[in-house]
Amino acid sequence: MCGIVGYIGVKSNPLEVVIEGLKQLEYRGYDSAGVAFIEDSKFRIYKEVGKISNLEAKVKNIDFSKVSNLAIGHTRWATHGGVTVPNAHPHISNSGEIILVHNGVIENYSVLKEMLVRKGYYFYSQTDTEVIVNLIEEHIKEDNTFEDAVILSVKELSGTFGLVISYLKEPDKLIAVRKGSPIVVGVGDNESIIASDINAIVKHTKNVIYLEDGEIAIVRKDDIKTKDFAGEDVKKDVFVVDWEIESLNKGNYPHYMLKEIFEQPVAIENCIRGRLLEDEGAVKLGGIAKLENYIHKIRKFVFIGCGTAYYAGMVGKYVMENIGGILTEVDYASEFRYRNPMVSPRDVVVAVSQSGETMDTLEALREAKRKGSITMGIVNVVGSTIAREAGMGIYIHAGPEIGVASTKAFTNMMVAIIMLSVFVGRRKRLGIFEGREIVSNLKKIPELVEYTLNTTNKITNDIAKEFYKSRNFLYLGRHYNYPIALEGALKLKEISYIHAEGYPAAEMKHGPIALIDENMPVVVIATKGSIYSKIISNIQEVKARGGKVISIVNEDDKEISKISDYVVTVPNTIEVLSPIINVIPLQLLAYHIATIKGLDVDKPRNLAKSVTVE
Ligand code: GLU
Repeated sequence: MCGIVGYIGVKSNPLEVVIEGLKQLEYRGYDSAGVAFIEDSKFRIYKEVGKISNLEAKVKNIDFSKVSNLAIGHTRWATHGGVTVPNAHPHISNSGEIILVHNGVIENYSVLKEMLVRKGYYFYSQTDTEVIVNLIEEHIKEDNTFEDAVILSVKELSGTFGLVISYLKEPDKLIAVRKGSPIVVGVGDNESIIASDINAIVKHTKNVIYLEDGEIAIVRKDDIKTKDFAGEDVKKDVFVVDWEIESLNKGNYPHYMLKEIFEQPVAIENCIRGRLLEDEGAVKLGGIAKLENYIHKIRKFVFIGCGTAYYAGMVGKYVMENIGGILTEVDYASEFRYRNPMVSPRDVVVAVSQSGETMDTLEALREAKRKGSITMGIVNVVGSTIAREAGMGIYIHAGPEIGVASTKAFTNMMVAIIMLSVFVGRRKRLGIFEGREIVSNLKKIPELVEYTLNTTNKITNDIAKEFYKSRNFLYLGRHYNYPIALEGALKLKEISYIHAEGYPAAEMKHGPIALIDENMPVVVIATKGSIYSKIISNIQEVKARGGKVISIVNEDDKEISKISDYVVTVPNTIEVLSPIINVIPLQLLAYHIATIKGLDVDKPRNLAKSVTVE
């Protein structure tokens, strides 16, 4: 949540790097934005409410020849104080000498603020952030160096913070701090870029250092020193990122979300590449090779995640139990961590997160580690905190996902979870022939997804035109496809603001059936599988009450097409892989409805990607 960028280097226009970086991070928060740089030995600050483009317009006429070699910027997702210009970051200290941007929440800010007010400080905003900058100033006044003042201050803060700080008297450096909110430092050629994630950095360098919680970095253009909060030096590895810059642009697509939907065949191909052993009916997953040592003592799997990642975990429950033959649970990370989760050293807890920084998932993972569980991550961003802390894991290799509503990361999470289930299953109850069937069909999935995209794009658009004014939607599915009904409903809610519910089709008669009338579109996932005949009865129940049925069926389907009002056909695959195909038209339907309504699908209201607050 929220994006921060800091630049120090030799570029003639550091502001351009920062604004561009903020645009790459805009998915993390976009209620307001601001930048600061040094000009004529003073900090200059520009802030605007709304999108980064508003801010960009404001700074475009600045004479950059007089601008310093450093700049910092922030895109905000407000937690304390309304969305106003004074509350937007950067925040400056009372003397005007220190400035900073902050991602996170300072839980003890009111006590600190009272203390600072007593000492004569004045506060211009309602944010929790403004106390940090004045606290640093106070410590500098006490004769501490800039670096020591930062360390003393952060030790007094409770809560979470990612910070980039600049001090007017030491313009050769920026200080970055991390506790709970991600911070990455790009190591460039005579330049360094600090950011909340690598999207803002990869254009300039692919060499990055990830700060851990409790670390600070003293960042110069040609030198980066890292320390812990005790002031001890810490040696850091430099990671090399493999993302391409092109993947951060929209290309010819009007929205990132649509681009990412259409990238799914390639993304899945990248996820399975080198991992499928067709002859052996098995998979090779280097990142979880260690699991082999525990395989016979494992009692259960627990998938934890938030939002879409949780639904991927839910698919995991069905798949792992069926083909892995092992008890599997799924839990919202935010619930798991505040319960007394019943996990032991014989259980595998799998943290699922696109960004690898989702705060609730990270904390749940840490809770599982405290309980001694075996842990692993299913993560997109290489080197992210969950990836580093999980101990083992599977990268989903979806490439950068910018659209706030997750699409390609979701399908790749499912693919990774299916491969994990085959890995476990082949060491348990899954025979070579069944293994081969899954693996050979998985290999064909990119092609089938491509086909599905091409054949369902128009029809979902036509259906969207019929139903975009609906106020409610119901999504029904069963078994492997019940989580897909939930995901379809979530996509619609997220970007079109239409109320939608996902339900297990057979449960409908125990409650939601009361909602059905001629104004209720009901999307039913009704592809061939073990519960096909049961779904037919569920559709009849909806029809009998006047509901409008939109069915997702296989191309050779005869029966359901006859009783549905609208039909979207998708190609056949084996049942365990059907969720990957079936979610495609649901993503497109949500996308088309939102665009017909004229909504900004990439930046839906109130939402942010990579939720790094609790
Ligand atoms: N808590 C700070 C604020 O409300 C930072 C929020 C953020 O991470 O964007 O301004």
